[in-house]
Amino acid sequence: MAYRYIDNYREQGARKKLVEELKKKGIEDENVLNAIGKVPRHYFFDETFWNQAYKDIAFPIGAGQTISQPYTVAYQSQLLHIQKGDKVLEIGTGSGYQCCILLELGAKVYTIERQEKLYYHTSVILPEKMGYRARFILGDGSKGNAKYAPYDKIIVTAGAPTVPEELLKQLKIGGILVIPVGDQESQKMVTVLKVGEHDYEKTVLDTFRFVPLVGDKAW
Ligand code: SAM
Repeated sequence: MAYRYIDNYREQGARKKLVEELKKKGIEDENVLNAIGKVPRHYFFDETFWNQAYKDIAFPIGAGQTISQPYTVAYQSQLLHIQKGDKVLEIGTGSGYQCCILLELGAKVYTIERQEKLYYHTSVILPEKMGYRARFILGDGSKGNAKYAPYDKIIVTAGAPTVPEELLKQLKIGGILVIPVGDQESQKMVTVLKVGEHDYEKTVLDTFRFVPLVGDKAW
């Protein structure tokens, strides 16, 4: 694999076009659009595939996993309503692209990945090659991560069969969970606002297709 960490005019131009495309597709949050405009998505691709990096598509990143489609990343990020300093748990680190977007939005990010290969790659590349610092955790995120709870926001970037109870417990009151829920073919994006210790407001939104959330409290 030949990764290079150079952000030249061609890639910057392609990134601007991607931001315009996402606006046209309905992404309105200026902070999210700015974050997409800042993170060099081509850094996550082998140089051979740089021409794919700013297309609005998901792409294979090895270990049978994908870097999410920019529209999906923007859509989930928008739903989180990140405030500067928010403590965010991301479940499914994968390539680390979504993590970088959350960091650009000013969040303090705890990100968990179950696949060792992805965890070791991303937890080194993000800080050392890209300058993005987060708390990287190896483990089963379907149980959340009690060690650093409670969180202001939780984002799940893999498709779950149901909303895991543990994730709701680990949210602060006033906190938001964004999670795709459905079968392994397609899921609905669900947001849960925690309004009281045992009170939640759930909203079911658009249809997406994620790789499965695999674990104790998932598939
Ligand atoms: N957020 C990623 C990005 O920006 O590239 C995309 C993630 S990919 C669509 C989903 C990831 O969730 C995969 O890397 C997969 O290994 C991971 N995953 C699946 N089940 C998990 C679990 N129980 N705990 C942690 N990670 C999990």
